[in-house]
Amino acid sequence: MLPGGHDGWRIQSLAAWISTVTDWSKLRHAYGTAEDIPDLLGQLGPDLLTQAWDDLWSRLYHQGAAYSASYAALPALTQKAREWPACDRTGPLFLAGAIVSIGDRPYRQAYAAQIAELAALAEESLLEPSLDGDLVAYVNLLQTLLAFEDAGVWGRHLDRLLAEEYEVWCPHCETRNFIVFARYGYFSTLDTMYMKGIGGEQLPLYPADPDALEGFQGRLHSRVLAAGHPDFAEKLTYVFGTAQCPACATLFPVDQAISARWDLSRGVPVKARALHRGPARSRRGSRRAVRAGIASAASGS
Ligand SMILES: [Zn+2]
Repeated sequence: MLPGGHDGWRIQSLAAWISTVTDWSKLRHAYGTAEDIPDLLGQLGPDLLTQAWDDLWSRLYHQGAAYSASYAALPALTQKAREWPACDRTGPLFLAGAIVSIGDRPYRQAYAAQIAELAALAEESLLEPSLDGDLVAYVNLLQTLLAFEDAGVWGRHLDRLLAEEYEVWCPHCETRNFIVFARYGYFSTLDTMYMKGIGGEQLPLYPADPDALEGFQGRLHSRVLAAGHPDFAEKLTYVFGTAQCPACATLFPVDQAISARWDLSRGVPVKARALHRGPARSRRGSRRAVRAGIASAASGS
């Protein structure tokens, strides 16, 4: 973290301070001071399954947190993304996207130029033929782009739609709802073991009319459809649709419940804070799986 904390820092002084820091020992990552970061950045290559990438991820994006050294690494990650071919740059894009997805306002403004370039590079990579037919790699690169574009919760948790479940709180009675997509049907339930199909109540989700989606929702749906992923586009209509809480029968917008739980810029609800301690390990697991997926996509397999 910055010395003295974030409060009261002006954007200009933040940018100036970081740009003049050549001594990484003045910056911090998850495990302490950041002298080891330049060497790790220098070791990076397009192969994502290396120790250097593992070490950088654990230091710069640790269980969903970023540090002063994380943001200071953005120029180097941008440079690598720029210099590497579109099919090879998912590594720097993905780490930079995770850091930026935290949405720390002063840092986002201090690194606006890098973030804009990273967005353009991600757009270019999304056109790569190697992504064709690889939904996991596509969705994670799209999520990365959304992080650069400051799309709130969708820059962090769009990939949960690949796991076909969002766990949210009913906005009326605050009961935990599982919003389930596709493999087991489209429904809301309170039943934690719904996948076993042994009797918990399941209420159908009501999808949005794709032709009626507007703004961000419409653009995202159209983009996914144009990229050749109609099944994922259909899931989005349920994300942008309505669910019914089995506990109190209240109808609520699914996307707003997702944002209420995970959009850090809106504050983290008390119940969600308790939950954050739980899924951290599985999130790390999914990140690794995603990186493996992207690596396989980049190698054309
Ligand atoms: Zn309810």
